[in-house]
Amino acid sequence: MPDTPPAPPRSAIAEALAQVRARIAAACARAGRDPASVTLVAVSKTHPAERVADAIAAGQTVFGENRVQEAKAKFPALRAAHPGLTLHLVGPLQTNKAAEAVALCDVIETLDRPRLAEVLAKEMAKQGRRPDLFLQVNVGEEPQKAGVAKAEAADVLRLAREEYGLPVVGAMCIPPVDQDPAPHFAWLAAFARDQGLAHLSMGMSGDFEVAIAHGATHVRVGTAIFGAREGR
Ligand SMILES: *Cc1c(COP(=O)(O)O)cnc(C)c1O
Repeated sequence: MPDTPPAPPRSAIAEALAQVRARIAAACARAGRDPASVTLVAVSKTHPAERVADAIAAGQTVFGENRVQEAKAKFPALRAAHPGLTLHLVGPLQTNKAAEAVALCDVIETLDRPRLAEVLAKEMAKQGRRPDLFLQVNVGEEPQKAGVAKAEAADVLRLAREEYGLPVVGAMCIPPVDQDPAPHFAWLAAFARDQGLAHLSMGMSGDFEVAIAHGATHVRVGTAIFGAREGR
């Protein structure tokens, strides 16, 4: 009888994913939360489709991209080969890319202005597709960063829900890189609670455990899964 072949080496990405999942589980345990209450969004921007396929082979089904063009280049083929993937757009969305984003994405995390709400509502009506939306809040009030200002967040949310009937299900933020993220996560969590938003997308490779302690339901992790990127 032939020897059973050795198990194939787990890909580096499978290893990294297992570690991130273990860290999520540990952070949930510390916070007294069910690990199933946190969705890991694997942010695959800049990494080729083959690496995404490695992650899929390791059981990952939820991915994030920050550019519509890149998502469009990578995901239709991946989806055809692997039904059941969920794609989040996590980068800023220009109105002239809204149609493609609605066609391609299951979740758009970066609703951040009235004009975008208007265009998304039109596209959703036209296409008969309703991706879930998150309101992105510029919690650090950084001029170069996307997101609605904290002081305007409630108004923009009301407009999106009531005026445009949009399916806004959560809030999202990216705290300033050089600050303790905890107060920013706490602010967003309180905002979501006040506004009846069930989901909170916060936490990246460097701070997802802190985000989980503050109630994150979605953590967006790139580097800790796929390795370093150049630039973005
Ligand atoms: C790139 C990116 C991430 C992932 O960041 P890492 O530090 O690599 O985990 C998360 N969220 C957004 C919006 C991003 O653009």
